[in-house]
Amino acid sequence: MTAALASETRLWTTLDFDQDGKRHDWLRLPFSSDLSAYGTIPIPITYVKNGDGPTALLIAGNHGDEYEGQVALSKLARQVEPGEVRGRLIVLPALNYPAVAAGRRLSPLDAGNLNRLFPGDPNGTPTQMIAHYITSVLLPLADLVIDLHSGGRSLAYLPCCLVRGGTEAETAWLIELMQVFGAPIGSISDGSGGGGATTLSAVAQALGVPTLTTELGGGATFSRPGEAIATQGLHRVLKHIGVLPNAATEPAPPVRLMRVDGRGAFTYAPSHGLFEPAAEIGDTVCAGQCAGVLHPIAGPQQPPTQIRFSQSGLVACRRAPTLTAPGDCLFKLVTDVERM
Ligand SMILES: [Zn+2]
Repeated sequence: MTAALASETRLWTTLDFDQDGKRHDWLRLPFSSDLSAYGTIPIPITYVKNGDGPTALLIAGNHGDEYEGQVALSKLARQVEPGEVRGRLIVLPALNYPAVAAGRRLSPLDAGNLNRLFPGDPNGTPTQMIAHYITSVLLPLADLVIDLHSGGRSLAYLPCCLVRGGTEAETAWLIELMQVFGAPIGSISDGSGGGGATTLSAVAQALGVPTLTTELGGGATFSRPGEAIATQGLHRVLKHIGVLPNAATEPAPPVRLMRVDGRGAFTYAPSHGLFEPAAEIGDTVCAGQCAGVLHPIAGPQQPPTQIRFSQSGLVACRRAPTLTAPGDCLFKLVTDVERM
């Protein structure tokens, strides 16, 4: 599968993934437009290899308006030198580069949501072509993937690390890695969440590559604590798997293992309005408790709508923009995992 699919990608790079050393380069995504007939979209990539050892694939900018991971990976890519590495680091701090350049979740070229388009298509839209390159060329090289997300423009997120449970052995290894990463919350999903089988982590799991995903902040702004969690977590995990064996790290803080307990964990807006939340991220809430109020914008002669939580749990994220439409997600809750 690897060779056949790899030969089909239209992305190219001058990097040689077998050569020792360090290089900053680009993946070149062909994109022909009115102003650039033979143009390519340059997706930044940093490659560091030193002898034999595991390969870590580190990604941010899967969604363009999520910033802590983009900054953390840019710092790591500049700082790390081949002498510190055993094995290989492949760093992509701005994976969906057109979305990153536009400051948007989706690509302005094709409205593509990269993390809903895996495994991708070698002859599809630009965003599908990026997904296909990751699936067919980079995932087969990887022993571990870390895909750094945040809430983006529409969500404020409690810093957490997320994994998709698999076999007992796979899940145990992922929980160990989450505990080493050290985000305050470690969330274990059964794969039934928003992205289904179309996310990077789902496709990586199908190929047998363990994957950590994060949520580190949100609102399309930069969280200093979120970036610190990313930087410290990256170094601890890379040390743990032996790629940065001598990295200077602090011990990981305790991780609270939690999960999303079905669709009832999500609260959705029933109508248009201005959303006045009654809970913040990190709050513990009970089923039936007021989640917030939607104030109609048409005028005070219309009554506000009170919204209630349908289950108990910890508020992992809430809607960031105030103006709200029917169906917008207002809250996601997580609940404690007894024992995995
Ligand atoms: Zn994201």
